[in-house]
Amino acid sequence: MIGRPKPPPRDAAARIREHAGAARSPAPGTAPTVAALGIAEPGGLLVPLRLPHRAPGPGEVAIEVRYCSVCACDVRAGRAQGSTGLPLVPGHGIVGVVAETGPGVRELEPGTLVGVGAVVDGCSTCAACRGGAGRDCVRAVPTYGARNPRTGEHTRGGYAKRILVHRDFVLHIAPELEPARAAALFCPRTRAHAVLGPHPAGEGTAPLVGSEAETRQLPASGAEELPAADIELVGADELNETWERIAAGPGHRMFVLDLATWGGND
Ligand SMILES: [Zn+2]
Ligand SMILES: [Zn+2]
Repeated sequence: MIGRPKPPPRDAAARIREHAGAARSPAPGTAPTVAALGIAEPGGLLVPLRLPHRAPGPGEVAIEVRYCSVCACDVRAGRAQGSTGLPLVPGHGIVGVVAETGPGVRELEPGTLVGVGAVVDGCSTCAACRGGAGRDCVRAVPTYGARNPRTGEHTRGGYAKRILVHRDFVLHIAPELEPARAAALFCPRTRAHAVLGPHPAGEGTAPLVGSEAETRQLPASGAEELPAADIELVGADELNETWERIAAGPGHRMFVLDLATWGGND
């Protein structure tokens, strides 16, 4: 079941809505940017951001994000965020469509619905990577909050209109799985929550790098495994309140950010 309660407007929420409207028409000739929602200062709320963006390089895929899980991992990372690595753009249960592919990526057509879990890159050369088990790569790169040695950039997650991912970590979505539900399940912690029942938000059961092989297989089995898991879609202007709800204690829902309703596109 997918619900969408409407909480009263809040200051941060109003700011996010205003930003969405202003973000639709970047000035011609300016460097490409992407609209995102992130933590810009330690202890701060999620705020709208415009961040530099680039075209996908060799082996990379640019994905236009449609849905992103909002999970306890994000809340914990956001609240622990220090002054380095800012801004933090969370989100590691992502469903979107292929927008653009870099050199050498022929297998993913623009428009294809795809998913991304807790890892966005690996070394591509170790036995694990070559065998399709990127989770076992000792240099697996978390989807957000990490430095990617391949690019030298800081990784940013799916609270954004676009994300860059290495092709090996672009996951397929079974047609029987609703896209919003798939987004929730690509986060390993949320998936465990759905299968095993709710856990307190502060419990350290799932690291930022989850079981990538498990999520890679997820679409095939997730639809039957999780018939009763409730999903609540939240808008960008409801994100801060959703974090408060998650932090308040054990929940019975999986939250998914609906980026299609946020107008902050390039
Ligand atoms: Zn998570
Ligand atoms: Zn590797």
